[in-house]
Amino acid sequence: MKATRFHGVGKPLTIEDVPEPEVGPTGVLVRISGAGVCHSDLHVIDGEVGTRQKPITLGHENAGIVEVVGSDVTDVAVGDGVAVFGAWGCGNCRFCEQGEENLCQNPIYPGIMVDGGWAEKLYVPHSRNLVKLNGLDPVVAAPLTDAALTPYRAVKKTLPKLAPGRTLAIIGVGGLGHMALQIAKALAPSARLIAIDLSDEKLAMAKELGADVVINANGDVGAEVKAATDGAGADAIIDFVGADATLKSAAASIAVAGKIVVVGIAGGTLPFTFWDIPLEVEVTTSIWGNRQELKEVLELARLGHITPHIERQPLEAINDVVARLHAGEIKGRVVLTP
Ligand code: NAD
Ligand code: ZN
Ligand code: ZN
Repeated sequence: MKATRFHGVGKPLTIEDVPEPEVGPTGVLVRISGAGVCHSDLHVIDGEVGTRQKPITLGHENAGIVEVVGSDVTDVAVGDGVAVFGAWGCGNCRFCEQGEENLCQNPIYPGIMVDGGWAEKLYVPHSRNLVKLNGLDPVVAAPLTDAALTPYRAVKKTLPKLAPGRTLAIIGVGGLGHMALQIAKALAPSARLIAIDLSDEKLAMAKELGADVVINANGDVGAEVKAATDGAGADAIIDFVGADATLKSAAASIAVAGKIVVVGIAGGTLPFTFWDIPLEVEVTTSIWGNRQELKEVLELARLGHITPHIERQPLEAINDVVARLHAGEIKGRVVLTP
């Protein structure tokens, strides 16, 4: 079968013929309909996030059709459309036992630890990591497994701050950010939304998706957020970049007792002391989401509340897609359709 292989930093990705994975008793072979290209893949390609094996097939945002099931599998059947939940927890630790497999300390992520979904087929060792689509298009479902699941969990963390009229600011209107705006509209319809990005095209998209105020990050973000909130600042901020510059903007824009949720893993630092950040501001990271949250995200999509903006590309286009994502030129999400 065809797969997109990453051999190491500085080397182009290659399309290769690799052996089809063998299916164990609890496993499922999924024919990939769609596999999203995430900025986290760029962190891997650039060597900022290590892989457990090389070469490796990247791709952790996957959905498709069940092709083969192991002898013990009863929860999905050949022909089912499925989304692949990607945070494969150990199943035994206290976080896994609570259903928080995204917090597992010994997880396996397809596309980072083992072969992922930028290929014709993906092997999923445990069928529990598949969620039936019940009619949802798998190409649409693929980015929902991360580009929507991750902001869903992050937005939920901000809800206690978002009483009617309060403000949520989204920094970075890319693959995750454009879903965050829609999720925030669905979960906190009476909150005000501010979108912040370097690209006017992304900000135009943010307006279409319901942002009340858009701010270009090349200006004085803190001053503009304050101006848009009667001097108070934003009650919650989700940073989908996580660079020094965006964390600094977040600190300059947050209201007293506000909450900053850091999702982007650009490796920036947020220095703060007791007095130079507003009183009682909370800062937290947010990692992916759990399986129940994925089910809720798929339901939001089925109900029509969230729709990813998708550009379909063949596996062969991957190096061009990576270059465009690097340059900030992708609107929404690219989904590879092998
Ligand atoms: P993306 O490239 O699709 O979007 C990033 C957006 O940020 C772009 O619109 C870009 O124009 C904008 N941007 C870049 N620099 C900016 C700046 N200084 N100020 C304002 N806007 C800026 O990326 P994505 O796929 O949405 O991923 C976003 C980040 O989230 C990445 O770091 C990725 O690795 C990370 N991520 C984290 C998790 C998690 O679980 N925490 C999950 C998935 C992705
Ligand atoms: Zn991702
Ligand atoms: Zn675990």
